[in-house]
Amino acid sequence: MYDDTNIFAKILRGEIPCQKVDECDHTLSFNDISPQAPTHILVIPKGSYVDMADFAANGSAEEQAAFLAAIGRVAEQAGLAEGGYRIISNIGKNGHQEVPHLHMHILGGEPIGPMRAR
Ligand code: 5GP
Repeated sequence: MYDDTNIFAKILRGEIPCQKVDECDHTLSFNDISPQAPTHILVIPKGSYVDMADFAANGSAEEQAAFLAAIGRVAEQAGLAEGGYRIISNIGKNGHQEVPHLHMHILGGEPIGPMRAR
């Protein structure tokens, strides 16, 4: 069940500001408020999807294509393509998802390190 009181829904409605880096008909991308790397951008769909599983099952082909395109475009425009970067989308409790609106983290600008600290 999508909860439209989440913080990204408020950003999409313009109730809370964000540092926008990119926008198209189906996506909005903005800087993370608590960056974990020199570049830390969040790409979100404008539609109401809880997570990637919801989006894969219920997003239209146009929305899904736009989301993928936005991730590539934002990384390229941020200058991350050549050196590389990481994309992560956390899902649910075990994935440690804090905001229940689908978002892709784009992290880069320095070596991001191993997948998990051990
Ligand atoms: P999650 O743990 O759900 O994958 O990641 C949520 C992300 O949203 C975190 O990296 C957190 O710093 C970011 N975040 C939380 N609240 C805000 C906000 O109000 N504005 C922005 N720009 N990012 C936020």
